[in-house]
Amino acid sequence: MNWLNELVNDDQYEYESGPAEPPTESITCVDCGGTCHLLTHPPEDGLWLTGDVVAYRCSDCLDRWDLVLMPLGE
Ligand SMILES: [Zn+2]
Repeated sequence: MNWLNELVNDDQYEYESGPAEPPTESITCVDCGGTCHLLTHPPEDGLWLTGDVVAYRCSDCLDRWDLVLMPLGE
């Protein structure tokens, strides 16, 4: 996946593996202001891990957005 290459050397994305802030069910589309719904299903144990990538799909313009989960409390 391309994002790995893009994020290499970026200190912001150095993290310890551990519990992550759970993703919200929807986000606002940066492009059109529509609603993007979470595509990624939660892990079976319900524990999101730092560095997990979740995908959203905009219901208006159908753009896809990938987010990297951040550690809890940040
Ligand atoms: Zn959109």
